[in-house]
Amino acid sequence: MTPENSRLHQLRGGLAPVEVGARGIESVARNADCTRLRAIVIAGLTPNEVIKHILGEVPDAMSPFAMTLTQAFERRLLSNAAGSLLTAYREKGHLQQLDAKIASVADHAPRDTPVDRNRRERETRRLIELKLRGDPTAPNLILKPRLTLTIVGVTHAIELDYLVASDVDPFYRVGVIKSYADRIGKTNKADVRSACREASVGTLALQQLLVSLGRSMELAGDRVDMVLRAPGSFTPRLYGAMRAQAELASLTRALATAPRDLDQIEQMLPPSASLATPNALEQLPNHYCSTCKEHCALWQHCRAQAQAQGNAIILGDQAAEQLAAAGSLNRAMDLLNGSGRPPDNRAEEVLAAELRAASALLDRIANG
Ligand code: SF4
Repeated sequence: MTPENSRLHQLRGGLAPVEVGARGIESVARNADCTRLRAIVIAGLTPNEVIKHILGEVPDAMSPFAMTLTQAFERRLLSNAAGSLLTAYREKGHLQQLDAKIASVADHAPRDTPVDRNRRERETRRLIELKLRGDPTAPNLILKPRLTLTIVGVTHAIELDYLVASDVDPFYRVGVIKSYADRIGKTNKADVRSACREASVGTLALQQLLVSLGRSMELAGDRVDMVLRAPGSFTPRLYGAMRAQAELASLTRALATAPRDLDQIEQMLPPSASLATPNALEQLPNHYCSTCKEHCALWQHCRAQAQAQGNAIILGDQAAEQLAAAGSLNRAMDLLNGSGRPPDNRAEEVLAAELRAASALLDRIANG
């Protein structure tokens, strides 16, 4: 075991590492101010694993319906030599008739074993190097490629849906498949942003691979592809070469925020403690917000902690913003009731007046 792996092993308190994948890494960017989530992901765990193995509770599970739908849609797109995906690309003009070379990394080494995982990584690299050499046999679609992404010195493996490039494209773009029903302009924007960020995790991995091969990371570009599902069917709707500058920037910012290395994570914990104890986890600073529920299985724990601390965020983002001057719900109640110490500053004075006016209005509405 390398010294770094041994430190990670210690950080996880002996728990086996899991592959957090592009989705797990993307979730870090959804709450960039949460040190707790970043530490869990960097250590090679997921919030679900924490719930199951550290807190001893039943983790969140994707609904069986959603899981079946996702798997069936992906199967439909990638089966039969990815014929359906290829057709979607041709129809949109992103691939031409002669761009028909497809390689499946998953078929090359299908088992979930360390040997096959290594083979998938090597095969992905080999196929990408073909493209970099300008080899005419380089695939136009690489299905289920396996890349690595190093975050604060820790290498994470990620398996993507696919990479795509026409023969005339200089390099690959990352593609992500989502079974969300595509409602054109009405598709949930947060879902679209999250899918683009998930693909951007792959772009960052491509950038790192290019640098390791002595090539410019600019080749990876700033565009990603996304395939959604037409409502009520399994017909793919392709959004090709979407600009993902903002997603790449937010991801890069989130991954560069402290803790920047294992030293910083270790320093946040009591001496020789690990993340595998509920107390140590609680000590890591978090940043509960209303969107935690959408992506992090720890949301109930963090919400309970926020409630115990009197954090106004449990009333929602708008309330938290309006009560920011008070700093806590208890202080806001003091300002409203005129109890406790007098307002500390002008901001608290204004808030106290606003709270009393709102309370009087509510009283009038309720009591006539
Ligand atoms: S639920 Fe908790 S750990 Fe997860 S992102 Fe939110 S604050 Fe962080």
